[in-house]
Amino acid sequence: MSADARPIHGPEQSSPPGAPVPTHDSAAKLADDFQQAVGEYLIRHRSVLDVLSKMQEASARVQRAVAKAVTVCGCIRIEASRQALSDVTSEDVSYADLKQFVQSHVAGQLCHNCRDVIEVELGQAYFYTTALAETFNMRAADVLAKEKQRLETLGVFNLT
Ligand SMILES: [Zn+2]
Repeated sequence: MSADARPIHGPEQSSPPGAPVPTHDSAAKLADDFQQAVGEYLIRHRSVLDVLSKMQEASARVQRAVAKAVTVCGCIRIEASRQALSDVTSEDVSYADLKQFVQSHVAGQLCHNCRDVIEVELGQAYFYTTALAETFNMRAADVLAKEKQRLETLGVFNLT
């Protein structure tokens, strides 16, 4: 996935509406195993208030890590200008064609150090997102599957 705010949806097949996450799916198993580990951690930090504040802190740390890659390390630069996607008037534009109208505004490549830091911070963001799901007895794999289905339903002209 690119660094854009929302992914553009490719032509891949979507699962049928309301389909449960298959238990044999390795991604679903990883999400389930991860949620179990998060649940064990939550025995000591159960309050939803802790989870919410930590979740917000994790999100801020992801942003801080990206900003530091630009301002401290310098391995990436932000080169931003207006997105030209709104200039596309036909809905018959292919996914490959659309990609030339949207930019991530990131120039350069993350160095290994910055990539590692951002990975850790993203992991923490996943942790607290999963912790919130666990708090309300939601299955994180189902949350992911439903969001994926929503993205596929929205299509390429609903990027906000
Ligand atoms: Zn760097």
